[in-house]
Formats: sequence, structure tokens, C-alpha cells
Amino acid sequence: MQRNTIQRKQIMDVLLSLEGEHPCAERVYEEVHSRYPTVSKATVYRILKDEAAEGKVLGVDIPRDVGRYDSRTDGHYHIKCRVCGKVADIEKGDRAFDGLYVNNSGFEIENVTLTFSGICSECAKKAEQNKI
Ligand SMILES: [Zn+2]
Ligand SMILES: [Zn+2]
Repeated sequence: MQRNTIQRKQIMDVLLSLEGEHPCAERVYEEVHSRYPTVSKATVYRILKDEAAEGKVLGVDIPRDVGRYDSRTDGHYHIKCRVCGKVADIEKGDRAFDGLYVNNSGFEIENVTLTFSGICSECAKKAEQNKI
């Protein structure tokens, strides 16, 4: 196997092991580095970008947040906790999205990015305890 192919597989394995965490490239690099110290940071960033462009990983863009990656590529939404910053998955419902907007812009819509924000169960619990 070519070096590049091996590194690609190592990085993808790490991303898969971090599933649900939605790590940024830096976090993926830290984890890759701890397992495979010879893989450079530039390689991790480049391969993640390439894989996202090819649709093999999902680039998660959350406004005012670092770029994150998700090994899960099927359609789903994300929610970010406004307290601790944790990101979790939100599943799509079966209702069509069309009823939510009226498109008078003359644009042909190709993509929509929808991100939810809220408070995670752990932070909600902590907030509740602090009240007492
Ligand atoms: Zn939280
Ligand atoms: Zn996700």
C-alpha cells in the first residue's frame, strides 16, 4: 500500500473512533498523533479536506465555530450546546422541508445549512443543581 493510502486509512479510522464527537481537524490530529506519531499535521488537515470534498466524511459548518468533521455522512442536522460547546446529531424528520420557507429570490436553491443551538442534558442538569 502507498504511504498516502495507509495514512488516509489511519486518519479515517481515528475519525470513526471519534464518531459522535464531531471533532475539529486539530482534535483529529491530536488523536492521530498519539496513535501514529509519524503522521504530520499538514497531512491530517489535507486528507480530511480531501475526504470531505469527495463526500467520504462530512464537513460540519456551524456558524462562529471551528470547522468540524463527522464520519457520519447521511443527512442529519447538528445541535451545539451554548454552554459547553458539545455538538450532537439531530435526526431528520420525514416531513418535507419546503413548507418552512418561501423562495422569492430567483435563486435555485442547491443547499441549505441548518444548525440548532440549545443546552445539552449535562449542562441542563448542572444549571438545575446550581439553582438549589
Ligand atoms: Zn453542554
Ligand atoms: Zn453529525
